[in-house]
Amino acid sequence: MPDPGGIPELRASLLGWYRRVRRDLPWRRDADDYRVWVSEVMLQQTTVRAVAPYFERFLARFPTVHALAVAGEEDVLAAWSGLGYYHRARNLHRGARHVVERHGGRFPRSVEAALAVPGVGPYTAGAVLSIAYGEPVAALDGNVRRVTARLFAVTEEGPRGDAACRTHARELLETRAPGDWNQAVMELGATVCTPRRPRCGGCPVAGHCRAHARGEEASFPRARTRRAPVQVTVAAAIVERHGRVLLVRRAEGRLMGRLWEIPQTSLEGGGAAGLEAELRERHGLHVEAGALLARAAHAITFRRIRLEAYRARLRGRPPADSDRFRWVAREEVSGLAVSSLTHKVLRATAVPQGSTGYRA
Ligand code: SF4
Repeated sequence: MPDPGGIPELRASLLGWYRRVRRDLPWRRDADDYRVWVSEVMLQQTTVRAVAPYFERFLARFPTVHALAVAGEEDVLAAWSGLGYYHRARNLHRGARHVVERHGGRFPRSVEAALAVPGVGPYTAGAVLSIAYGEPVAALDGNVRRVTARLFAVTEEGPRGDAACRTHARELLETRAPGDWNQAVMELGATVCTPRRPRCGGCPVAGHCRAHARGEEASFPRARTRRAPVQVTVAAAIVERHGRVLLVRRAEGRLMGRLWEIPQTSLEGGGAAGLEAELRERHGLHVEAGALLARAAHAITFRRIRLEAYRARLRGRPPADSDRFRWVAREEVSGLAVSSLTHKVLRATAVPQGSTGYRA
């Protein structure tokens, strides 16, 4: 068990394991502050497997913090397109400007200054400072929280549980190699001490784990009350013209603000008629909805979206405001800042057009 006498042994076991088995991930090849920062922001709420290709592309597009700081928001969102949670991209962009203006392009070295960077919270600050600079700061993400809750059999729930885990994470921190240490705990949580079925038989610190000693691994961490999922039905209008599909831009400040998307609206049982009325009211678009082309399911935070995509014909003149409306060839969509739901709709409807629907 991790009592003060056992902690050095626990640290040695976990670090030794990590150095033997760690995955070769693109952001681990160079502990440059900018690369570490970008990777940590991308990895929030997103899996390693999903992030890897985006990370390479993003770094190719914006190889330095200076390149990111001078980029336009549209370019940054386009490079982020498909990763979701776009507020992260906007904050990273603002953070890059802050770091260039206030710190000469280097991520600050103190926790206090790091927390003043837009979008940087205690976790990101701890991860970047420890991995890029070797500063002895613990980083508590979901993986670290789970591992510490199990090692110490933390019974408190919610914020009190978080505080207890944070205290334990600080006690455990190997100050001689804080970057490797933080990554070792995260790696253990991601690959061995997983949420549902921890593989305690292959765990390098099983002999120190209180939850394991009690045979109660699955009881920790104590469950949080989750927001109940909300079911939403969204209807989308596929309007095509000369091989291009019509996209509209979401308003500033809304969820996924300023992203491009297929004209769409949530429906309360209104079907195609509700779609026509809503698009008229919201965008001034006069469309006539035709055949149902595809159905798809999508999840955003607590919303469970059931999507219905209708072929639609534009009535009247095409919209002229190029800041709000754009005709885009399907193969060009990946170059725009587009919501994941729109990518899904376009994939679902990318079948040869038959003769039953409409074309503008
Ligand atoms: Fe997690 Fe099991 Fe290892 Fe404990 S023994 S840290 S529950 S994998």
